[in-house]
Formats: sequence, structure tokens, C-alpha cells
Amino acid sequence: MEALKVHIKKNDSVLVLSGKDRGKRGRVLAVSPKKGTALVERLNLIKRHTRPNPRQKQGGIIEKEGPLSVSKLMLICPRCDRPTRIRRQGLENDKRVRACRACGETVDK
Ligand SMILES: [Zn+2]
Repeated sequence: MEALKVHIKKNDSVLVLSGKDRGKRGRVLAVSPKKGTALVERLNLIKRHTRPNPRQKQGGIIEKEGPLSVSKLMLICPRCDRPTRIRRQGLENDKRVRACRACGETVDK
């Protein structure tokens, strides 16, 4: 499968647009471009049952972030603090960066 173009990256702040965590914000922990999903800190938590193992003597239930479709996530601009659509901005050296459509701030440093 070809990797999708994802508009978010690790450590971005994002807003969840739909699903049970709609309207919540969080920080992106990881992105899987191939699957088109991202893990967002403390959002879409799923419970996992763990078995006792040498490191963790007692088995139990742990909560872990579940993958969210990146299509449900909107980037929050670090400058104007608003969920924004991004604009791809070409640079002289042929690199592309993401920029906020509202305030024009470049999101990628
Ligand atoms: Zn902005």
C-alpha cells in the first residue's frame, strides 16, 4: 500500500473532529502514514488486558491510546491556537512546509 499524505506529525496539537472524543485536543504521539492513523495522547483510550509477566507481577487492565484516523484530526496552529487547515508552502530549496491558513504561521520549523 502506498503511504498516504498525512497532514499531521508527531508532537502536533490536534483537535478530534468526530467519534467519541470529538472536540477534544491532544498531542500526537505517533503517526502511521501507511495506515492513515495517529495515536493521540490520552485520547481514544482502549483497555487492554495484560497477563502477569516478570516485569509486571500482576496482570490487569491497562489503558492505551488506540489509533485514530488522521482524517478525523485537525491540526491546531501553535501560534493562533485554532484548528486550522494547512497550506503547503514551497521553499526555495524545494522543501515543503506546512503553514496555517488563518495566520500564515509556518508550522514546521
Ligand atoms: Zn495560525
